[in-house]
Amino acid sequence: MSYDRVAFVGLGLIASSMFWAMRRAGMGAHVTGYARSEQTRATAREIGLCDTVCDDLASAVRAANLVVLCLPVGAMGEVMAELAPHIKPGATVTDVGSVKRAVIEAVAPHIAPGVHFVPGHPLAGTEHSGPRAGFAELFDNRWCLLTPNGADTAAVAQLSDYWQALGAKVEEMDPDHHDLVLAVTSHAPHLIAYTMVGVADDLHRVTNSEVINFSATGFRDFTRIAASDPTMWRDVFLTNKDATLEILGRFTEELFALQRAIRTGDGEMLHDYFTRTRAIRRGIIDAGQDTDAPDFGRKKS
Ligand code: NAP
Repeated sequence: MSYDRVAFVGLGLIASSMFWAMRRAGMGAHVTGYARSEQTRATAREIGLCDTVCDDLASAVRAANLVVLCLPVGAMGEVMAELAPHIKPGATVTDVGSVKRAVIEAVAPHIAPGVHFVPGHPLAGTEHSGPRAGFAELFDNRWCLLTPNGADTAAVAQLSDYWQALGAKVEEMDPDHHDLVLAVTSHAPHLIAYTMVGVADDLHRVTNSEVINFSATGFRDFTRIAASDPTMWRDVFLTNKDATLEILGRFTEELFALQRAIRTGDGEMLHDYFTRTRAIRRGIIDAGQDTDAPDFGRKKS
C-alpha cells in the first residue's frame, strides 16, 4: 500500500530528488513541503517542488501518512520536537540523515504513541545542495538503508516499498553498525578529501592557480568531495564521532605503514597494497555502484 499524503520537512537536494522520483514513478500522493527560509520556499514554489509548499511546519505535516525529515542531522531533534504534536496517529516518520544512532536519540523521544518511526539513509548524493539540486534519478540502483530499531514491521515494509518505487535497493541494518560502515565508506573519506584540499590550499610553494590549472584526476576527485555542504558535514562528524575517530585511527596507522614503505624503498609492499585496493574498486564496479569508464566517465575536454 502506498502513502496518499507525504510531507517533506526540509527542501534540499534529497527532498527534491525524492519528490521528482515520486513523480517519475507516477505516485499519486499529495505532497506537502516545508523549509525554514522564505527563500527556499519561494524557490520550491517556482520550480513546482511539492503540490503545496507550506509556511509553517504544522500545516505541512498535519494530514501526512509519511513525514520525511530531510534536514541536517544536528537539526532533526529540535525540528521534531516542534512538529511532533501535529503528526496524526498511524503516520510514519522517517529521515534521510547520514548518521543513524544520533538521529534516533534526538528524534525517538518526541515520537507519540501510535506514530511509527523508521529511520533511513539513502546512500546517494552529490556535492550540490538546495531545492534546485534534486533530480529523479538520484536513487536509481543505490542502497537505502533502513535502521528500524524495533519499529512496526508493516510500517517498515511500507517504507521499503516506497524507496524501491523511487529506484533504490533497500536493506535493514542495526543503527550502530550503519554508523561504522558509513564511517569507512563515506565519513572518513570525506574528511580525508577536506584535508587534502586544505593541504593544497596551505602549501605556499605551489600556487592556488597551479593547483587549479594542473589538478590531476586524484585531486579533482578530492575537490568535488570537499565541495560538499559544510553544515551537513559538520553535523556528520559531530554526531558520528566515535566511529569516525576509530576509522581515522586505523587510517593513520596504514598511512604510516605506506610512508615507511616509501622511505625504505619497499616497492613490494606498495605493489601488494595497491593490488589489494584495486580489487576493491573492481568489486564496487561489479556491484553496479560505479562506472568502469576511464576517468569516471568524464568527457574529454
Ligand atoms: P540541503 O540540500 O542542504 O537541504 C537542507 C534543508 O534543511 C534545507 O531545506 C534547509 O532549509 C534545511 N535546514 C538546514 N538547517 C536547518 C535547521 N537548523 N533547521 C531547520 N531546517 C534546516 O541538504 P540535503 O543534501 O538534502 O541533506 C539533507 C539530509 O540528507 C542530511 O541529514 C544529510 O546528512 C542527508 N544526506 C545527504 C546526502 C548528500 O549527499 N547531500 C546524501 C544522503 C543523505 P533552508 O533551505 O530554508 O535553509
